[in-house]
Amino acid sequence: MATIKGIKNRLAAAGRALGGDYTSEKNGSKPKDKLKASQRVNAAQRAMSGDYALRDGKKPVVKVEPAEIRMNKVFTTKEKAEPEIKVFEKQESARQREEERVEWRKKAVRRDSDKTVGCIHPDYCCGCGACYSVCPVNAISMKYDSEGFLAPVVDRSKCTNCGLCRKICPSINLEYKNTVEPACYAAYADDEIRAKSSSGGIFTLLAEYAFEQGGAVCGAGYTDDFKVEHFIIESPDDLDKLRKSKYVQADASKVYADVKKILKEGRVVVFCGCGCQVAGLYATLKNVDISNLYTIDLMCHGGPSPKLFDDYLNKYHGKDQGKVADVGFRDKDYFGWSTEMTVKYTDGTVYHRTRTQDPYYRAFLPCISTRKFCGHCAYAKLPRTGDITLADFWGIQKYNRDYTDGKGTSIVSVNSPQGEKIYAAIADKLLLNKEIPCDDVLKTGQPFDHCFKNHPARQRYFEQIKNGSSMEKAYDYAIKDKYDVGIYGVWFGANYGSVATYYALHEIIRSFGLSVLMIDMPAAKTGAGKPDTHARRFAKAHYHESKRYTLKDMRELNSKVDTFIMGSDQVWNRGISRGFGFSFYFDFVEPDKKKIAFSASFGHDRDFCNVQDRETISEYMRQFDGISIRETSGVEICKDVYGIDAVRVLDPVFVADRKVFDSLADKAKKKHDGKYMLAYILDPTPEKRAAVVEVSEKLGLEVVVLLDGRPKDPVKNRQIMDMDDKIVDDITVEDWLNYFRNADFVLTDSCHGISFSLVFETNFIGLANSARGMTRFESLVDVFQVRDHYVQDAADILGNDELLKPVDYDNVNKILMSERERSLAWLKEVLFRPKEFEGYRAYPIIDKRLAEDKED
Ligand SMILES: Cc1cc2nc3c(=O)[nH]c(=O)nc-3n(C[C@H](O)[C@H](O)[C@H](O)COP(=O)(O)OP(=O)(O)OC[C@H]3O[C@@H](n4cnc5c(N)ncnc54)[C@H](O)[C@@H]3O)c2cc1C
Ligand code: SF4
Ligand code: SF4
Ligand code: SF4
Repeated sequence: MATIKGIKNRLAAAGRALGGDYTSEKNGSKPKDKLKASQRVNAAQRAMSGDYALRDGKKPVVKVEPAEIRMNKVFTTKEKAEPEIKVFEKQESARQREEERVEWRKKAVRRDSDKTVGCIHPDYCCGCGACYSVCPVNAISMKYDSEGFLAPVVDRSKCTNCGLCRKICPSINLEYKNTVEPACYAAYADDEIRAKSSSGGIFTLLAEYAFEQGGAVCGAGYTDDFKVEHFIIESPDDLDKLRKSKYVQADASKVYADVKKILKEGRVVVFCGCGCQVAGLYATLKNVDISNLYTIDLMCHGGPSPKLFDDYLNKYHGKDQGKVADVGFRDKDYFGWSTEMTVKYTDGTVYHRTRTQDPYYRAFLPCISTRKFCGHCAYAKLPRTGDITLADFWGIQKYNRDYTDGKGTSIVSVNSPQGEKIYAAIADKLLLNKEIPCDDVLKTGQPFDHCFKNHPARQRYFEQIKNGSSMEKAYDYAIKDKYDVGIYGVWFGANYGSVATYYALHEIIRSFGLSVLMIDMPAAKTGAGKPDTHARRFAKAHYHESKRYTLKDMRELNSKVDTFIMGSDQVWNRGISRGFGFSFYFDFVEPDKKKIAFSASFGHDRDFCNVQDRETISEYMRQFDGISIRETSGVEICKDVYGIDAVRVLDPVFVADRKVFDSLADKAKKKHDGKYMLAYILDPTPEKRAAVVEVSEKLGLEVVVLLDGRPKDPVKNRQIMDMDDKIVDDITVEDWLNYFRNADFVLTDSCHGISFSLVFETNFIGLANSARGMTRFESLVDVFQVRDHYVQDAADILGNDELLKPVDYDNVNKILMSERERSLAWLKEVLFRPKEFEGYRAYPIIDKRLAEDKED
């Protein structure tokens, strides 16, 4: 027994540890940094158990419970401690739940000013449809969201802002009424009922109780079109319609009003559904007598997307051609008590697949296809929402062999007095009914007191489904973190034009239904951090990015990516590419992978590579499946310097649909009201400044000046422009695009500045910029036949009214259409052409010698 002094010491130490003064180390030394709350509790626990207080290394005699530490109280005997600890823990858990409720509400309501359920964050809407049911003016409809889950949409033209939907929404107003320590049972009904049920058939017995009382039963069944919805049945003959689990999130929205009507008639209703639907029902029954209502919630793994289920039945089973007769997730006749897939066809044939073979099941079980809300479900926990909770007692044979005959044993949790009443009423009809400790149910790992988290690859899965991937591929690529295409290049650079050109390429590839990984720049250490720049923030919002690898480790990308594409801009300007080793020529890519360069550029009309590197690079280039270059001069360099055939294509910003940029520009935050001339000047000079001033005065337009996203000398640039009040800094790519889109005239020394003037059909003067490579400008104005709007020297702008004439956009667009079509056709052909690969030869040198021997 520890002495009183010893205990006091421990308490004092624990107090200090909780305050963050002590580490959990035995020497009790001060921590360097403030400890986290969990570390403090840990440290306090260790202090209390004597790790700190007893320095002689002896084990402490009195075992101090964590609750005692939190109570700041130590009991001398177990008997004295237990009752007080119990009361304390109850109060604690009620307090914790209240805190959670407040926290949850804060996150759930994203627009407090909205009086409707439009205020709710989509991730916090469970899709119960209670709001739809209560709206007095039918202003709410339940529609598929982008992942195919039902979510409310408010018609503002009908809505009277009465606030009722928001007031009753169960996800905003969480209510916990039932006990946190329910009585639990292992139970099953007779064999006949079980054969027709998913698990132990308890639902059927509870439903029969309702009919015996002259009541009705509500549960989920299939519509004629195999949608899963809640229905009300009035006779036991219709029970087959509801029995058995359908692993799809059901639409209960239309049934609540009918349940309310029956309750108002004074009749009994047994309602069975997932916790969210039970919560939804209660939400619609405020001020209604619910003494005749018995609710059953299911220990719920999560509800998969109904639209996904519909697509699955159409694509894999020809539902839309009338081929499906029945769908079963729990066919006991074929699989026994298990979870596997059965689809019965109208021609009498049957599809049986195990849960690991069937594409729908494969995604459901690891929670890849379940609702976002399910990953933090507020109902898959104690206290339960329903009066009774039902589940399969998976693992029962290990728990107690006597409680299973292999035909289905259920867990029954009785959560309320109403639950006790109905369970007592069916008890003598049960073939097995054994009470088990609630703690043992907690140990089963079932979603009893915790929900199953969404799989980390969930978002990618749905992204691919939305992009048209098959369910198998979406699953496989999501789980393995694989991509159809890896785009490499300078997308991470701070130049707005580069960001836009890579985004365009990204969107083009995605429009082919392919997934894209943006390959990041190499680093000295794999997994190195990424700087915080506007380009990086843009990337985070729009791309899947690879981690940063060392040049050596970039080979690892071969296991993630099927086809590698080198993007546009000056990636083959050796002055730039040298910093990336030979990776811009895909030296790290395995020979069986496809390698493409799309609209790559040397930036200048000559090659800056040294002779030695040229040989290596031309060898790597030869291994490409297709090379396209942005400038005519680049095509010539490929041929003359590297001996490679290449074609000229447009910059991706012209190949992508203009809508791609419009939707980005729509998100701009910084804008200029009224008419203006945009001066996008990368390398200011006094002559350029004079040109900007003169042109804007002639046009009678205000000037907006944008400078380079990351200039070498920002202070000097600003000084030269000397237009501080006109310069807009700190803009996003979205702002940048919008400035081009809304400008009445553009003057620019940027190649992408000219490009976006053309994309948005804005009149412009393009100014050559030798520092950034003349050939890009020359090629661009020649391709689009806009030389009349281009000068090589800023001084040539002064006094030259010809440059202010409108651009002939009819002609530009005609060229754009045919050039776009040609560029796209080239890309598609190379991308989708089967890869020609001879296979690996383990001993190429020996092969060669053998061949030479033969010749001899
Ligand atoms: C989406 C979903 C996830 C589940 N996850 C788990 C789990 O992780 N672990 C576990 O042990 N049990 C889970 N269950 C419960 C389990 O599948 C059984 O439904 C339960 O054990 C009852 O079995 P029974 O034999 O008593 O009822 P059955 O006779 O099989 O009747 C099933 C009852 O569930 C209702 N129901 C069927 N499909 C749906 C649906 N899509 N939405 C709402 N209600 C429905 C029916 O209306 C019926 O009332 C889940 C059920 C569903 C619907
Ligand atoms: S009532 Fe249900 S469906 Fe409506 S917003 Fe709330 S959680 Fe979503
Ligand atoms: S605020 Fe009232 S009228 Fe508007 S959608 Fe909600 S319930 Fe309907
Ligand atoms: S996990 Fe929660 S939200 Fe999802 S279906 Fe089940 S009860 Fe509803």
